[in-house]
Amino acid sequence: MSVIISAEQINKHFDDLHVLKDVSLDVHEGEVICIIGPSGSGKSTFLRCINQLEVTTDGIIRVMGEIVGYREDGDKLHRLSDRKIAAQRSRVGMVFQRFNLFPHKTVLENILEGPVFVQKRNKEQVKKEALEILKKVGLSNKANSYPNSLSGGQQQRVAIARTLAMKPDAILFDEPTSALDPELVGEVLAVMKELANSGMTMIVVTHEIGFCREVADKVVFMESGEIVAVESPENMLTNPTHARLKEFVSAVL
Ligand code: ADP
Ligand code: MG
Repeated sequence: MSVIISAEQINKHFDDLHVLKDVSLDVHEGEVICIIGPSGSGKSTFLRCINQLEVTTDGIIRVMGEIVGYREDGDKLHRLSDRKIAAQRSRVGMVFQRFNLFPHKTVLENILEGPVFVQKRNKEQVKKEALEILKKVGLSNKANSYPNSLSGGQQQRVAIARTLAMKPDAILFDEPTSALDPELVGEVLAVMKELANSGMTMIVVTHEIGFCREVADKVVFMESGEIVAVESPENMLTNPTHARLKEFVSAVL
């Protein structure tokens, strides 16, 4: 199957802090990769590098085979313009812990923003698609509501809908349920599970071990800026090959 996202020997420094150390990962079409690991291990930074919210110090990221953020010129790489980067970025969606919806726009307007103003697609067509997507995430009746009238779980489902409306090749989730009250976690995970079953390519940073076990094709364990283990979800629970992974999983279960 084709590789949708490929990270090759990614390094990232924040001044003296070496946050990502030779991180390499291939994500194939339709695959769901869960990334787990202690706080501060570089999980968010890795996703942010893939989505070009951070510039890597070293290493190459490709989306659908194309180097992102840079243009190749012989054996040199030149940073692309912000406009070109924004266009590339819309091919990989990202869902954050905090939903970052526009508070003064309705749910529907929030969803239309990217496809209409960034991707310059036809508003009426996008609106039709947006209403379909809202149905998928169980929020048909909230199209004209404002974000602050919704629960956290509903807002996160709007954030997922907004990402889907961009028709991304893959979606990155950074602890999408960590900011939610416990009773609202399930509805968001259910939408993500549907998405995974529909064949979406996903990287999910999460502490929800149950979700990893059910949905992930591979579980990646990061520690101190490195990928230290890649396991099948079954092995992660029953027979983790890496001692620290074993400790981590038993601590969060
Ligand atoms: P995780 O998501 O696994 O908790 P992060 O990727 O957020 O880890 O952070 C990894 C390390 O990088 C941490 O030590 C964090 O303090 C540091 N870090 C993250 N973002 C920045 C930044 N913008 N400037 C400086 N240090 C940062
Ligand atoms: Mg994080």
